[in-house]
Amino acid sequence: MPDARGEEMTEPSGKIVARPLVARACGHQQEFQHYAVDKYRAQRLAKFQRARCADCTAKLVEEQKRAAEALPKKGEALQSLPSGTQLSLTRRPDGSWAGTLAAEGTVVKTEGTAGAGPLTVLVALARLWVLESGVGGAEGDP
Ligand SMILES: [Zn+2]
Repeated sequence: MPDARGEEMTEPSGKIVARPLVARACGHQQEFQHYAVDKYRAQRLAKFQRARCADCTAKLVEEQKRAAEALPKKGEALQSLPSGTQLSLTRRPDGSWAGTLAAEGTVVKTEGTAGAGPLTVLVALARLWVLESGVGGAEGDP
């Protein structure tokens, strides 16, 4: 046995005694297996309900990948900022940077994540602005 702390959920064992359909986070129902021996069934069930079904998880990952690919590249985003762009960066107590960028009537804001430098925040703002303002062929308000 690797450890005897008893903190980790042990794998259920024995026969599957029931297979009720349980709604997952995405709303789809999936079979949840009840094992004869399962000390942590309630916890496993809660975890099962909090997660999306396998199909939806795969779709979400795919969507996030596509969304990331659709974002303008760092250089492109910075290049597309028009003259007159105003930028304000604020260093916060936790060392992260929050920023606001305003150009051509579109204002975007971002909360920097800890450890992200001001340039990272600037690029994030530029990308946001490109998305919001619809520059670069993306759909936007007329
Ligand atoms: Zn689903």
